[in-house]
Amino acid sequence: MLSDSSIFAALPDGAPAHKPSLLMVDDQTVNIHVMYRAFAEDCQVFKATNGKTALQLCESKLPDLVLLDIEMPEMDGFEVCRRLKANETTRNIPVIFVTSHSDPEKETLGLELGAVDFISKPINPSVLRARVRTHLLLKYQSDALRSLAFRDGLTTLFNRRFFDHQLEMEWSRSVRQASSLAIILLDVDFFKRYNDHYGHQTGDDCLREIASTVKGSLRRKTDIAARYGGEEFICLLPETSQDNAMEIAEKISKRLQERALPHLYSDVSQYVTLSMGVASSIGGELEAEQLIALADQRLYNAKNSGRARVCGETPAVKN
Ligand code: GH3
Ligand code: MG
Ligand code: MG
Ligand code: MG
Repeated sequence: MLSDSSIFAALPDGAPAHKPSLLMVDDQTVNIHVMYRAFAEDCQVFKATNGKTALQLCESKLPDLVLLDIEMPEMDGFEVCRRLKANETTRNIPVIFVTSHSDPEKETLGLELGAVDFISKPINPSVLRARVRTHLLLKYQSDALRSLAFRDGLTTLFNRRFFDHQLEMEWSRSVRQASSLAIILLDVDFFKRYNDHYGHQTGDDCLREIASTVKGSLRRKTDIAARYGGEEFICLLPETSQDNAMEIAEKISKRLQERALPHLYSDVSQYVTLSMGVASSIGGELEAEQLIALADQRLYNAKNSGRARVCGETPAVKN
């Protein structure tokens, strides 16, 4: 049997490096105290004595797990759980009800609301610790799976699915805040020839190098680099003007030049190069799809006007 002090020691790969964080919610401070003593040594503990504070702490601290009393004045535990599960930010935090009820109907209701477990009072610290550990392990595993679903396996950049989701969110935000949202669409030049001459494996290595160059050129937390398709990448730059996005695109180009990845079969350079299309929209003047289409059109212009360049303008149509 695990000694009590080692119960959190062997968390799996993928578990965060920090101590697990727990939120304890109970209107009776004496109950919080009993729970606190069980976890004080190896967990970071937040405490709330009412539902409103519990919801606020969940949003701001994102604890790994919530221990939730049911009977509380003003807002009961069921309502707290309902609201946590209705909020995209907090819905993945596991909730364990800690209650003196032994009523199957209430237990069923709690589980239907999305709680992962029920623990009865009076609290037995060993049982509580063992159950919390189990649910923390499950939480870390499901977090790891969720993050895999949003990542591209080859480059570890975000994948297109995540990008599409993020574009939708950032587009709405740019409408609300009347801010500029910019996009850079990037395509590797003569990459078919690269694969043909250096082999697919080296081609994969090259895509990883490019991915890390693109990602390393973005500075803000809200900037996102994703793999858009085979040898195409895309950057989403919230609150960024067309001029600033052009500068970032040029910076990516310069950094890739500095990496000097040989490509002896390219017509435009002896190194691997990118063509890029840059587009932006202020306050939703373009729909999200139109923004992408404009970047794509400019990428096409970059290709047609000689590759290894950034294009941020649409040429006037000749009659
Ligand atoms: P252009 O300058 O016009 O963009 O020419 P290109 O050769 O880059 O364009 P094309 O669309 O003809 O070829 C893209 C190549 O990218 C073909 C495909 O084999 C390669 N590619 C796509 N995905 C991957 C991948 O995951 N790994 C490797 N190694 N190659 C890939
Ligand atoms: Mg109570
Ligand atoms: Mg392409
Ligand atoms: Mg290409």
